[in-house]
Amino acid sequence: MSECRVHIEDSGAISVSDEVVIDGHRNIAGKTRVVTHIHSDHIIDLMSSIRNSYKLIGTNITLSWLSVLGYSAAASSMQLSYNSRIKVGSINLEFVKGLHIPGTAQVLVVCEDGHRVLYSSDFKKPGEGTPIVEADTLVIDAVYGRPTYVRLFDDDIEMLLVGLVKQLLSEGAVHIYGYYGKINEVMEILRSGGVDAPFVLPPKVYMMTKKVESLGHRLKDYILLGSREADDVVKSGWYVYLDHMMRTRNRVSRGINSIVLSGWEFKKPIKKLTNHMWHVAFSDHSDFRGLIRYVAGVNPRRVYVVKARSNGAEEFAGYLLEKLGIKEVLVV
Ligand SMILES: [Zn+2]
Repeated sequence: MSECRVHIEDSGAISVSDEVVIDGHRNIAGKTRVVTHIHSDHIIDLMSSIRNSYKLIGTNITLSWLSVLGYSAAASSMQLSYNSRIKVGSINLEFVKGLHIPGTAQVLVVCEDGHRVLYSSDFKKPGEGTPIVEADTLVIDAVYGRPTYVRLFDDDIEMLLVGLVKQLLSEGAVHIYGYYGKINEVMEILRSGGVDAPFVLPPKVYMMTKKVESLGHRLKDYILLGSREADDVVKSGWYVYLDHMMRTRNRVSRGINSIVLSGWEFKKPIKKLTNHMWHVAFSDHSDFRGLIRYVAGVNPRRVYVVKARSNGAEEFAGYLLEKLGIKEVLVV
């Protein structure tokens, strides 16, 4: 019976028993890579994995979004649904839903000896939208790892965002900037909050939305920037434009009301930055309290805190040792 070996690289790549490597690249015998979701810190060195003919495993949405982002997976790649399990060499691999961006999965590896290794990936609302499963070993990214990283308004932020967008739409067009995936989540929140204005989307966001729609997430009234229909809508001045965070600067100067979405704000849910620009503290990550609740629920004997994707990894580890009484906590 082979031993369950967990190895974590400086890059954040997590490998188990040399059968799979998760969210990073490493040369392993199993030549299998798991992608938990498409954010850049989780697809690091993906080209190395593809060039070395690794089989990619991800959810349906993750694999189709990778193709939009220009990654062509090997023919042997496969999709895995939530709560499904497959055997990879000597281990069993299972996906558990993570509430973060569409398609995000927690990864549970069960080794031959029954040892359970869980990688949380990114998540929010543990115990509600993100189910918590028990494991012997937990690998976690302490994204908000310091006890001061707390957003007391997290439960109200969706309602506040919808309210702000409605108010700004009464004055004209609204531009929203956030990371890929978060934008898609926000579109769904706006629609269910009663925002009817058409969404105008640049090509990549449009393609990603089309893919998600083909997998069953219906979203009405979104159009491609640059199309004739979009030109008319833009002229009308009543629409919501959504784009990636990095394009914020190009657009805000035009005097259009713009909203930037980022969880790095703990005091105020909405902040007016300039005459036409607002910051909304909408996050796809649990704050410090959520991380602790998650770890307590997993009830592991050993925890690895992945430095590459953490903020305050040492403080977080210290808290787990002292307050949660976990015997073994390693910052890697
Ligand atoms: Zn993420």
